[in-house]
Amino acid sequence: CGIVGYAGPAPPPSRPVDVALQGLARLEYRGYDSAGIAVVDDGTVRLGKRAGKLQNLREALAERTDMTGSVSIGHTRWATHGSPNDTNAHPHLGGHDDELALVHNGIIENFAALRAELEAAGYPFRSETDSEAAAHLVAREMEATGDLTEAMRRAVTHLDGAFTLLAVHRDAPGTVVAARRNSPLVVGLGDGENFLGSDVAAFVDSTREALEIDHDQIVTVTADAVRVITADGAEVTDPKRFTIEWDVTA
Ligand code: GLU
Repeated sequence: CGIVGYAGPAPPPSRPVDVALQGLARLEYRGYDSAGIAVVDDGTVRLGKRAGKLQNLREALAERTDMTGSVSIGHTRWATHGSPNDTNAHPHLGGHDDELALVHNGIIENFAALRAELEAAGYPFRSETDSEAAAHLVAREMEATGDLTEAMRRAVTHLDGAFTLLAVHRDAPGTVVAARRNSPLVVGLGDGENFLGSDVAAFVDSTREALEIDHDQIVTVTADAVRVITADGAEVTDPKRFTIEWDVTA
C-alpha cells in the first residue's frame, strides 16, 4: 500500500529507521493493516514487522539494537493475498540464506507459478503473499548476475501484474533498488542521502526535490547517486525533475 526507501551515509546511527518510520507515518492516510522495515548492516539483512498500527512496529523497534546501517526500506500493507498477520507483513526475505529483503505494493498475478518454480529450486517460503515470490525471484537473479540492478531488471521481466518493488541485499551495501509497473514510485533527492516513495509524502519532511519514474523503469539509489534504466537496460539520462510545492505543516 505505502512504500518508503532510504540510502544515506555510513555510519548514521538510527536515521534509516527514523526516516522509514516518518515516511510510513506520512503514508498512514492511505489505510493499512500491517507495517514493517528492513535494514542491512554487517552483511546481514534485518527485519522488523508487525500486524496492526504503526505504533506496534514502533514499539517492537524500540527494543531492537540491531536495526542499524545506511539503508532502509519500509512498507504499510493492505493485504490482497494472505491474512493480515506478522508473517505476511512486508518486508519479505528472499534467497536461500535470507540475503535479500523486498517490499511490494500491488498484485503479482503469476505468483503461484513462480512460487512453485522457486520452491522446487529450494527457496524457503514463509508467507501466504504473492509478494514473497518476487523476493525470491530477485534473490535468484542476484545469484545469477551479482548485480542488484540487473537482478531487479531481469526479475520484473518474469512478473505479471501491477507492482512497485523495493529491495536491499547484503551483497549490495548502501544500495536500494526499485522498479514499478502500473503502481507509483518517486525518488527524493537529498544532500548526501536519497529517498524512494510510493508518494512524495514519504520523504517530504526531508527534501522537496524529486524525480519522476516511468513505467517499467528500474531505479538504483545510493547516498550520493540515483541511476535510472529502462526495461531493456538502457540508461535514462534525463529523468523528469520537479519540486514538491505543497505545504506541510503537520
Ligand atoms: N499483494 C501484496 C500483499 O498482499 C501487497 C499488498 C499491498 O499493496 O499492500 O501482501
